[in-house]
Amino acid sequence: MSEGKKEELFRKIPKVDTLLKEKEIQELCSAYGHGAVVDGIRQCLEELRRSAIESPELFASKMEGLGAQIIKKVKETDALSVCKVFNATGIILHTNLGRAPLGKRQLEAVLETFGGYSNLEYNLETGKRGKRWEHYAGEISEITGSGGAIAVNNNAAAVTLILSTLTRGKEVIVSRGELIEIGGRFRIPEVMEQSGAILRETGCTNRTRISDYEKAINENTGALLKVHTSNYKIMGFTEEVSVEELVELGEKYHLPVIVDLGSGVLVNLEKYGLPHEPTVQETLKKGADLVCFSGDKLLGGPQAGIIAGKKTYIKAMENHPLMRAFRLDKCTIAALEATFREYRDEERAVKNIPVLRMITTPVNEVRERAQTVCEALKSAGVKEKVEVQKSRAMLGGGSMPTEEIPSYAVTVMPKSESCEALAARMRSLPVPIIVHIKNDRVILDMRTVSEEELHEFTEELKLLW
Ligand SMILES: *Cc1c(COP(=O)(O)O)cnc(C)c1O
Repeated sequence: MSEGKKEELFRKIPKVDTLLKEKEIQELCSAYGHGAVVDGIRQCLEELRRSAIESPELFASKMEGLGAQIIKKVKETDALSVCKVFNATGIILHTNLGRAPLGKRQLEAVLETFGGYSNLEYNLETGKRGKRWEHYAGEISEITGSGGAIAVNNNAAAVTLILSTLTRGKEVIVSRGELIEIGGRFRIPEVMEQSGAILRETGCTNRTRISDYEKAINENTGALLKVHTSNYKIMGFTEEVSVEELVELGEKYHLPVIVDLGSGVLVNLEKYGLPHEPTVQETLKKGADLVCFSGDKLLGGPQAGIIAGKKTYIKAMENHPLMRAFRLDKCTIAALEATFREYRDEERAVKNIPVLRMITTPVNEVRERAQTVCEALKSAGVKEKVEVQKSRAMLGGGSMPTEEIPSYAVTVMPKSESCEALAARMRSLPVPIIVHIKNDRVILDMRTVSEEELHEFTEELKLLW
């Protein structure tokens, strides 16, 4: 291209000030601020200049879409780093994807409390200061059948708070088969050290008997701790002590029995074809003094650590200095109360709590979803090999590590790119889609994509080809 031609194109490039006078750009300024819009305009004009050097055709097309380009640029720059994604991995409680998604009613509670002032620590009856746990403690006690309850930021904090309150400087007896690491540096021995308790291991990795616990008891013993081995399984020649046996021993020596359940399940999952996972209610009924569990695993609520059990211990924790550091914010309190409210009725919980709904959705419905997506892609003219195939969903989040849930997936065998390249393109969609790759196919498991998301999910996929 001649210098003269280039100059001619350059002269066509509008001035920043001229663009700023346009109505749609002015609207942009009032939404995102003058500075941000000027930055966006400058970047777009720079791209325009570069296109002028490349070809007049490219320049013309860029010139045509300049307004839209500026709007897109400003919005993109303003987008948050944390964003919605579609989870097509089939892992229901995916820790890296935020574990439990919340349902409509849970979210409504959060929006209302977060958007304005609330009675977070204010007693509306007396007009005086209230306690933030009063909003949820009664409900949790009622549903789990505990004497009292309190919640903190996560289950790791719950274990730390329990041990710091009850067993500082004292020995806590744990089976060698239960010295678990959850991931993210949560290791029972290390948490125990941090909380000032002394770990007293007993038994063997595969077998621990009640007599092992009894032998380990001495005058400095502070508690018996049982940790639910939620993220691995010891199989074969094994033996573990039941909560009932521990409770009996605890009563004999006046020692509290603490159970870290990990995943706090409140409904009997056997009804839905899954193996038995000890529920919070039955563990308390067996006599455990304190039970703790996560809010965002099988409970299906916000990230939290919930402690339920004997009133005297709960009171002591309420007054512990760490409680101030671990306490929940108003957003979580609202979501937590709304979550437990759903559990007043099991049918209601299974219908309204997304995690439970995903677990219990009949496999036929999942297959129908996969077929809908597959057919939509085919009728949109997608040339890739797209199929509906059986797949296996998982609970994830360290729950039932060996258990698979029957599922269906849309699978794609890309023709002109690698599976990795296609998966990367899926991650860069407006709402990123997260998948896994198996047998040279990109697998889109449909158990973790909800019915409500289906339309948007399909429309997004169409953008790829
Ligand atoms: C998941 C888990 C934890 C940690 O819970 P967070 O809520 O992630 O802090 C602790 N103990 C057990 C047994 C767990 O499964």
